[in-house]
Amino acid sequence: MGAAGIEALLCSIGADLPWLTGYEAMPLERPTVLVLPADGDATLVVPRLEAPRVETDESLFALRPWLDGEDAVALVAGLVGSRNNLAISDRAFAGLLVDLQQALPRARFTRTSTVLGALRAVKDAQEIEALRAAGAAADRVAAALLAGEIALIGRSEADVSRELAARLVAEGHAKSNFAIVASGPNAASPHHEPGARRIGAGETVVCDFGGTLHLPGDTGYCSDITRTVVTGPPGSELRDLYDVLQAAQAAACAAVAPGVRCEEIDRTGRAIIAEAGYGMQFIHRIGHGIGMEEHEDPYLVEGNEAALAVGNAFSVEPGIYLDGRMGARIEDILVIAPEGVVACNEADHNLHVVTA
Ligand code: ZN
Ligand code: ZN
Ligand code: ZN
Repeated sequence: MGAAGIEALLCSIGADLPWLTGYEAMPLERPTVLVLPADGDATLVVPRLEAPRVETDESLFALRPWLDGEDAVALVAGLVGSRNNLAISDRAFAGLLVDLQQALPRARFTRTSTVLGALRAVKDAQEIEALRAAGAAADRVAAALLAGEIALIGRSEADVSRELAARLVAEGHAKSNFAIVASGPNAASPHHEPGARRIGAGETVVCDFGGTLHLPGDTGYCSDITRTVVTGPPGSELRDLYDVLQAAQAAACAAVAPGVRCEEIDRTGRAIIAEAGYGMQFIHRIGHGIGMEEHEDPYLVEGNEAALAVGNAFSVEPGIYLDGRMGARIEDILVIAPEGVVACNEADHNLHVVTA
């Protein structure tokens, strides 16, 4: 905070607060704010009715519950005092920020990620263990998909999505965070919302799913995996496209090492896809950091010159999307552990024909 010129952090909803304290605020309209000054003691301002959820450790922070009818924003402003350089959680509600701006007209706000992003991006041994456990649980669901244990043909995308979510929980996740099932032409939409479309024979089906898994004593770490299957013998176009994609994903994973710039991983995968003529069909960055949140620092994207470091955890997920026709994506989570690069996902990468 000193190096960044920040006088106080204001941590609200999102992962900053549980990462620092173990307590996750409810994402509701009543403000929860940890006021953490660089030069003083921390105070958690929390709705009175949610205070029983907080495991208080008075050596870390004081608790200041507030009752409905009290002015929580004025309370926070009082704790901030004359400090003007403030950082507020990236995920905080805009409504809270606007109210704080009115209560603290001289304050300048930046995002907590300017301080916490680089810290949260370096996972310790316990966090790496948690990410590996979450990845292994997601892998078991992916293995069932590849083995044809999850029926596809004739079912709606939404129905298959519900089964993937249920399997994530059955394999040990506390909850599923998302389960994209994108079939046929829908597979060209990377963040497709699974719907009523019934999956046919001979179609690509992109399945991208993940959840949050808790090991004893931690606040939950995320999984995120994508596998693409085809519900019948693949045509030559899909086989060629998939070969390119698989080669790009493998090359990008192989390029991962401490000291390599984030954008270099993106460039490595993208070069192979562009060389094959699909450059314009790879319409997103190659990866994102992962931890307590599904998407966090570091982002593997052109323009991010930051160097990968021991402790970083992130996805490598190139995709090729042919508008209105089909698409494919392969995604794994990698961690740069002290002993070397670890793949949290080991489910097979080859194109599987699933006729179930
Ligand atoms: Zn995504
Ligand atoms: Zn994903
Ligand atoms: Zn992802």
